[in-house]
Amino acid sequence: MNAELISLAKQFHLGVLSGGKFVSSNEGGEACILEVLRAEAAAREKRAIAERAKQARLPTYKGFKEFDTDFQKGITREQLAKLETLERVDQAFNLVLIGPPGTGKTHLALAIGNKAVERGYKVFFSAMDTLTHILKTREISVKSASRVRSIYKCDLVIIDEVAYLPISKNEAIWFFSLISQLCETASVVITSDKGFSGWAEILGDAVLATALPDRLTHKCQVPDLEGEGWRIALRKHIFYSFYSIRWGIFVCLIWWIPS
Ligand code: ADP
Ligand code: MG
Repeated sequence: MNAELISLAKQFHLGVLSGGKFVSSNEGGEACILEVLRAEAAAREKRAIAERAKQARLPTYKGFKEFDTDFQKGITREQLAKLETLERVDQAFNLVLIGPPGTGKTHLALAIGNKAVERGYKVFFSAMDTLTHILKTREISVKSASRVRSIYKCDLVIIDEVAYLPISKNEAIWFFSLISQLCETASVVITSDKGFSGWAEILGDAVLATALPDRLTHKCQVPDLEGEGWRIALRKHIFYSFYSIRWGIFVCLIWWIPS
């Protein structure tokens, strides 16, 4: 029997076919069964992607294909292709996208999220203010508590617009705790209009504002956005800096790789 047919039969727990000894009495019978099983597999895969996309709460579709490297000249096609492989998600490494509004940070984060959903990863996307609300209400809302539990089960967690609006000290502590734990198990992608140095004012706590980037960049070499050099740590990194013609300042895209 056809190996693909046996494999699909096993996937669908079809005992008669899984053993590989079934012989069809009709000419072309095996090919016909294979066609049906392929169609079923494709339909299930489509449903699974739709379900993961729903769980991920990606607000809109943005893809790598739609990201224009002529418009955003600082990132090359090769670098984009590297992001698209999602190998850093496999390795549970973090990505921090920092830059002014309109430079494509959310677009890239969504493209990574959508690709990850397609590839079978569990993803969660949230704007920072929504996440803060979920964390704040998790003790009094079953829905929020369940959402928090599901975030911890994700392979990729994307938090958009970090340090955009000020948050309370408690909210900052909850957020820090979430990130700390996620860094152990998942890949975290963060977008922010502010460099790390601007986070203290928004997080309302200088200690947390230092600890948070430290956690995100654990054992990494981190570019100092103030331009004073590099803090050396234990891992090499890929540092893409792409120049925004519109804003005339650097946008940093940092993705760490193991040494
Ligand atoms: P940011 O999150 O940095 O503020 P967005 O990702 O929201 O910016 O980009 C604003 C809009 O511009 C979006 O519709 C996005 O798709 C588009 N955009 C930004 N950069 C690019 C790019 N390089 N190629 C294609 N579209 C882009
Ligand atoms: Mg954005």
